[in-house]
Amino acid sequence: MQETVYPSLAIIVPVHNEEENIHIFYDAVKKNLTAEGLLSLPDAFKHLKYDFWYIDDGSIDRTLLEIKQLQLKDSSVHFVSFSRNFGKEAAIYAGLTYAKKYDYVVLMDVDLQDPPALLPKMLGKLANEQLDSVATRRLDRKGEKPLISFFSNLFYEFISKISSTKLVSGARDYRIMSRQMVKAVLSMPENQRFSKGLFTWIGFRTEYISYKNVQRKKGQTKWSFWKLFKYAISALISFSTVPLTLVTVLGFLTTLLAVVGGIFVIVRKLLDPAIAIGGWTTITVIIMFFGGLQMFSLGVVGRYISAIFLESKRRPIYVEKESK
Ligand code: UDP
Ligand code: MG
Repeated sequence: MQETVYPSLAIIVPVHNEEENIHIFYDAVKKNLTAEGLLSLPDAFKHLKYDFWYIDDGSIDRTLLEIKQLQLKDSSVHFVSFSRNFGKEAAIYAGLTYAKKYDYVVLMDVDLQDPPALLPKMLGKLANEQLDSVATRRLDRKGEKPLISFFSNLFYEFISKISSTKLVSGARDYRIMSRQMVKAVLSMPENQRFSKGLFTWIGFRTEYISYKNVQRKKGQTKWSFWKLFKYAISALISFSTVPLTLVTVLGFLTTLLAVVGGIFVIVRKLLDPAIAIGGWTTITVIIMFFGGLQMFSLGVVGRYISAIFLESKRRPIYVEKESK
């Protein structure tokens, strides 16, 4: 008799200095993936086999010790530990690399901002609607700093307008993906990673589940305003060349302006050679304005060059110290 093979799921959890959350997260997931929790799912998914993959992104607190403690009592807990902090994007990449043998993977934050209670619903949708991926989006940003919310919303609106990769507003990294999708994501070896864009770029059938924002249970956010700003710029450069077009158009328009202005000045001088030209103010303003515009344009071009430079070094996305 042939043994039935049940689907396997890897739960990928990037963690950076989250000692208080390792156990809480583990318990919360376990509580939601019980036999009863999976009861309403199609047959195969009722016997889902799942593993935890904590990706320790260079924590300097007890995070790794907590994970190892969990591993002692549950062999379905695994980890990859980095040699230093490489960022959440690198941790996601490492997680996907380690989980490519599983039928499905799900990405989750450890702070319970990605509610584990949604897992059965996501699995159900995936199975019933035969999707490649079920993702989540939060409907609000309650509890977040207003300045961060404002700029985040602006960023997502802007990037969706100028990039051909359309992002869903409020989309999270919290999503279940099929192995085929994981392979597609891993086939993009770029260093400057913006996963939300990559997940959309590869295509496949994805549906979203919406939920109200949940605030972090323990600890602090690992993202400062400056870190988010740099992440946003790098995402923008990765997913759009519209800024370059914009600079070109600006250059063209100012040239046009210069020609018209030049002709005006020359004709006026020819018609009335005696005219006294003052214009100190005009000249100063023009020089400052175009000086600024040129610096700005150079900066935009510079961002693209720096992106090429960083990619061309072909450094690994993360360096591993230990895994089990
Ligand atoms: N994280 C990480 N590396 C980092 C920053 C964050 O692995 O350099 C993890 C973090 O431990 C958490 C998830 O990424 O599990 C989301 O981070 P956080 O909650 O700080 O972000 P926020 O929810 O505030 O956007
Ligand atoms: Mg969080």
